[in-house]
Amino acid sequence: METHKAKVCIVGSGPAAHTAAIYAARAELTPILFEGWMANDIAPGGQLTTTTDVENFPGFPDGILGIDLVAKFRKQSERFGAKIFTETVNKVDFSSKPFKLFTNTRTVLAEAVIVSTGAVAKRLSFPGSGEGAGGFWNRGISACAVCDGAAPIFRDKPLVVIGGGDSAMEEANFLTRYGSKVYIIHRRDKFRASKIMQKRALSNPKIEVILNGSVVEAYGDESGKGVLGGLKVKNVVNGAVSDLKASGLFFAIGHEPATKFLDGQVELDEDGYVVTKPGTTKTSVAGVFAAGDVQDKKYRQAVTAAGTGCMAALDAEHYLQEIGSQEVELGQVVRATPLTVYNEVSRSTPVTVYNEVSTSTPLTVYNGASTSTPFTVNNGESTVRSYISKCSKSNGSSKRAKLDEGGTFSSSSNTKSNVEEQAMAHPIGVKSSKGEGENLVTKATNEENVATKTTNDERESNSRSRLENLWALNERDIAERNKLSRIELLRSLLGKTEKLSEKEETLKNKLIDEML
Ligand SMILES: Cc1cc2nc3c(=O)[nH]c(=O)nc-3n(C[C@H](O)[C@H](O)[C@H](O)COP(=O)(O)OP(=O)(O)OC[C@H]3O[C@@H](n4cnc5c(N)ncnc54)[C@H](O)[C@@H]3O)c2cc1C
Repeated sequence: METHKAKVCIVGSGPAAHTAAIYAARAELTPILFEGWMANDIAPGGQLTTTTDVENFPGFPDGILGIDLVAKFRKQSERFGAKIFTETVNKVDFSSKPFKLFTNTRTVLAEAVIVSTGAVAKRLSFPGSGEGAGGFWNRGISACAVCDGAAPIFRDKPLVVIGGGDSAMEEANFLTRYGSKVYIIHRRDKFRASKIMQKRALSNPKIEVILNGSVVEAYGDESGKGVLGGLKVKNVVNGAVSDLKASGLFFAIGHEPATKFLDGQVELDEDGYVVTKPGTTKTSVAGVFAAGDVQDKKYRQAVTAAGTGCMAALDAEHYLQEIGSQEVELGQVVRATPLTVYNEVSRSTPVTVYNEVSTSTPLTVYNGASTSTPFTVNNGESTVRSYISKCSKSNGSSKRAKLDEGGTFSSSSNTKSNVEEQAMAHPIGVKSSKGEGENLVTKATNEENVATKTTNDERESNSRSRLENLWALNERDIAERNKLSRIELLRSLLGKTEKLSEKEETLKNKLIDEML
């Protein structure tokens, strides 16, 4: 078993999956895509691999074979760096993050998931319904009236729709544009379609209904071209079999969305489709998105699947940006490598530090003294705070320590140092708002992070030497330094041209009181 980490993992291989992959890859989210291996008996590439000409996908004025179209989708995903595995995801674990997806040979730990596993149009099986020799699948028999209805072989010919629901009514109505006549064959004595849909279909003069009917055989036409010529229809009540001339047969008996592998971990509707928040691709699990036919029982077209694939990639991208900031808010950034944080020279404007999860999510780090010497803090756990408490403990007194010039510690027995206030108020990894104690500010860049990585041992030893420095400091010097630092702080507050925040105002007044 191999384990991979991915920002985005996409499951599926139709237009939805590949559009999501193209967008995610171009957004540098380096997606992993599982295209499945005969998942739900469909080849990688999805439903379009089961059809011949696709005439309604924009960009192909002369039409394109379904199989060629999906090959182009795949090539485009790969071109932008999507990593494609021809494996079926058979298990997921969305109970905690990172999400886990399992195939027979690998596991992916993903921050976001896009489910685009499509749906399978249900088909009936009887002699002549198949794809091989003697079968008329794609040669008169189809499962998509909207996709295939306009084909020349159906023009002005008798057509048949099998089904009794809304889709059957809608598809029959649609086919009346092309066929000379449309029969709806249903095996029960009444339809389950809504009254309005039934009314619309049954009032169409080109539609004729055959109830209690079941197609038992399809046969070819007299031309010998191997296209559909007619059907044998059995009356399920009296068993009589009649002949019906038809050049087209369309199954409208529903679709089976490919959601079993989700094992109920995402909300599904009563027909098994993934429920998405209207206008988005968000599912009931934050960070899991759904696109294409797996969440769409209305449009079910390649171009709509592609459209929602695009939406899912954009939704995932926004989500990743958001969790970046949430993790900062919650201080949950997982990063063992220390960041190096530099003081700002001006010390008046807070600068931003980027965390590791999302470089677009800024956080602000405050220092307690002015210095041009770098010092290190850990991202993630509030290491500044832990340095302080470590220091206070070793000191054996209630005195608190602060980061002093040059990155050494000093202690103060009377008032809380600014760094302590800031560190306690905003432990590293917690975003602070601009304006809260702007006197001392630190800055880091990703390049600096990389350039100044230190090991834990080095950090420990730095800490120890800082502690020793601390002990060596003369109490009076410390008080003096502290006073100076507070004067500087007051000066910077008094020097600010913009209106002070409430906290700054309080701090300023407190400092003035102390000075007086
Ligand atoms: C016969 C037919 C003809 C059609 N003709 C047209 C047409 O001319 N024009 C048009 O616009 N639309 C047409 N459609 C509809 C169109 O094919 C679908 O709307 C579209 O393919 C849906 O795309 P999708 O990305 O949602 O998923 P799908 O195309 O359904 O692909 C999903 C893929 O995910 C894979 N998968 C499933 N489960 C897993 C798993 N657990 N792990 C990994 N992979 C998995 C499946 O194997 C499948 O390959 C036709 C459909 C059919 C059936």
